[in-house]
Order: sequence, then C-alpha cells, then structure tokens
Amino acid sequence: MGGSERNHSLAEFAPAGANQTESIFGRNSFLPENPAIAASVEVSARGAQRRCDPDRPGAQRSGSGSKISNFHTHTCYCDGKDTPRELAEEAVRLGCPALGFSGHSYTAYDPDCCMSPEGTRAYLREVLALREEYAGKLDIRLGLEQDYYSEPPREEYDYLIGSVHAVKKDGEYLIVDWSRDILLRGVEKLYGGDIYAFAEDYFRLVGDLWERARCRIIGHFDLLTKFNEDGSLLDETHPRYLRAAGEALDRLMEAPVLFEVNTGAMARGYRTTPYPGPVLRREIARRGGTFIRSSDCHRKDQLLYGLADLPQPGEVFADQP
Ligand SMILES: [Zn+2]
Ligand SMILES: [Zn+2]
Repeated sequence: MGGSERNHSLAEFAPAGANQTESIFGRNSFLPENPAIAASVEVSARGAQRRCDPDRPGAQRSGSGSKISNFHTHTCYCDGKDTPRELAEEAVRLGCPALGFSGHSYTAYDPDCCMSPEGTRAYLREVLALREEYAGKLDIRLGLEQDYYSEPPREEYDYLIGSVHAVKKDGEYLIVDWSRDILLRGVEKLYGGDIYAFAEDYFRLVGDLWERARCRIIGHFDLLTKFNEDGSLLDETHPRYLRAAGEALDRLMEAPVLFEVNTGAMARGYRTTPYPGPVLRREIARRGGTFIRSSDCHRKDQLLYGLADLPQPGEVFADQP
C-alpha cells in the first residue's frame, strides 16, 4: 500500500479530532488530539519490555491523581462486576482524565460473558447519559470490545477494540481464555494436540481483525498465552509460533491500529507480565507499532491495575534482562 493511500485510509478512520503523525510514533500510527487518549498511548521506537512486577511495592496501587486513563473497561452489562456509574466514580476518585467503556459485543457462541442485544442498548444509553453528566470532570468514551465472530455493531461507538476470544474449527468454537483444561482438550480434539496449528489459526484471525472489525485497538494480541506463564503450554519462541504472529503483524502494521499492553491477566493472577509477551512486544516495537496501556478492567478496584508501572508515554522500553 502506498503512503498516500495509507494516509487516506487513516483520515477516513480517525475520529474527529484525531491527529496523524509520521514521526517517531511509526509510519502506521496516529495519535488522537484528545490529550487524555494521547496520554495513554505508549510509544516505543525500539527496545523491549520493562518487566512489570506486581509484587513490587506500589505495583498494585491504582494511583490517586495518577493521570492515567483506561479504555478497556467492562461493566455489569457483560462480565464485569460494577455499574458504569461505579466505575466512573472510581475514575474520578483516581484522577483519571478519561474513561473508556468497552463492553463485550454479543457473541452467540458464549452468551454468558457478553452483553445481550437488549443489554447492549441499555449499556449505550447509560454510558451516553454518564458522558453528559460527567462532562468537564471526566472524559467518558463509549467503546465496544468487538469479538472476531460478532456481527458488526449496529450502534455508533467512539472506538472499537478488536479481540479474538475463540477459534472456530470444524464448526466448533474453541474458547481461548476460559481455562487451561478447556483449551488443552479443544486442541487435542480439534488439532490432534498440535498447539502450534491452533496458534496459527488464532493468529490468522488476529491478523484479520482490522479488515473485519475496523477496530482502532488490537486487544490482548497473544491472549492464547493466558495459561502459559510457566511455558508448559507452548514455546513462545518456537519458529511456527513466531511465524504465525509475524504474519498477523505483517497485516496489522498496514492498519491504523494501536496495540494494547494489557494487564488484565495480571490483575486476575494468571500472569506476572502483560500481554503481549516480551518477544512479541519487542517485535511490535521494532516494527514501529504504537502501544496503548489497558487494564482490561472487570472490577473497579483494578481499574488502573499495573498501568503506573508500565513505561510512560514517550519512554522507550528498557531492554529485557
Ligand atoms: Zn478480551
Ligand atoms: Zn476485555
């Protein structure tokens, strides 16, 4: 794709007020003018991940007055615990400039964890009403975490997070992040136990997210490593794994997307480092990708979980020891 074409598609996609840049932020990226969102955008021109240790003193602090925003937030309309209002109150208490809600889009394969079609409409009404009410105090944004298999949203959102939570194979949905056991049994049944064949299918879908969902943010790029903290599920440096992830990046680097550094699995005790893992995070950084910090919040006391320990906007990731 030529530069002018790329800029054209960026301009079409970028919401009102968004500002494109060709500078150190990377050829494919843009930063929104809104300072609250811009402040959440993590830039890394080179280097790797700084280790985020949740046991470190202060690692779990939500950081009153921290000026950190979060745009990946679930409510009781899907599988979150708190109401939009409770979350907005917490965001104000913490001094967040902005708060983006991103309920799970309706998925027929897993209706328990997502918003129902009626619930989606109620969610939208409530968040829009709160946006009015909190104007001047907190910049509330209406978003949606758009699952790969969901129908395109009917409503209008400020932004979409595109996510792969399941891989459909032979007519069956293999849920990626439900449990280690379910994942392993599914890989056994549908892939004859070949975890890398599953990873190849997973990353094929991730690579397709922009084209399919026109999402602004790529959610938890390597969610399939949720249960791989001890490395026993798969080798995240295996050539087949890296090739599959690299091919997804080949496609996404042509798109105006931000990549999450997502602390959700840390908050829930599955991982000690955020998504993406260090190898892929380094690769995204090497290619000039732009990151955004996300807590993938499901309860208000974890609204900014671990985010204060991630590099600040403009800070280059330190090399991994
Ligand atoms: Zn998700
Ligand atoms: Zn989420």
